[in-house]
Amino acid sequence: MAKNSRGKRPCSICRKWFQPDVRQKGRQKTCSPACRKELHRRQCENLNRKNKADYKNNYLTKKLEKAEIEFTSNSASAVISLQRQTKPVLPMDVIVAEYGIKPAVIIQYLASQIITHGRIYKSP
Ligand SMILES: [Zn+2]
Repeated sequence: MAKNSRGKRPCSICRKWFQPDVRQKGRQKTCSPACRKELHRRQCENLNRKNKADYKNNYLTKKLEKAEIEFTSNSASAVISLQRQTKPVLPMDVIVAEYGIKPAVIIQYLASQIITHGRIYKSP
């Protein structure tokens, strides 16, 4: 990062030059609390975008494990009602009977993903 002789540096958000706090010892990247908040928001956004696939894998893995545990002690419809089926109401009893609990959970997940993303692409 560019610095001048007096230790001033440009804010990484608004690009205005500012005098960093000496106690920050060169770590300060922004001029104000508002810019610091914006920098934090952008860093979180990047991190979330990078880890999106991991989050989805973790979510589905947990959901499958939970469904399998509940399925051993309850009926299929009890499991689905415990999981509180969201948007697309699917004939889960039939799907579970034909494919088993884990594929049924995956089908439910994929259906909700398709609907969610369809909604995003439709909006202007
Ligand atoms: Zn700034």
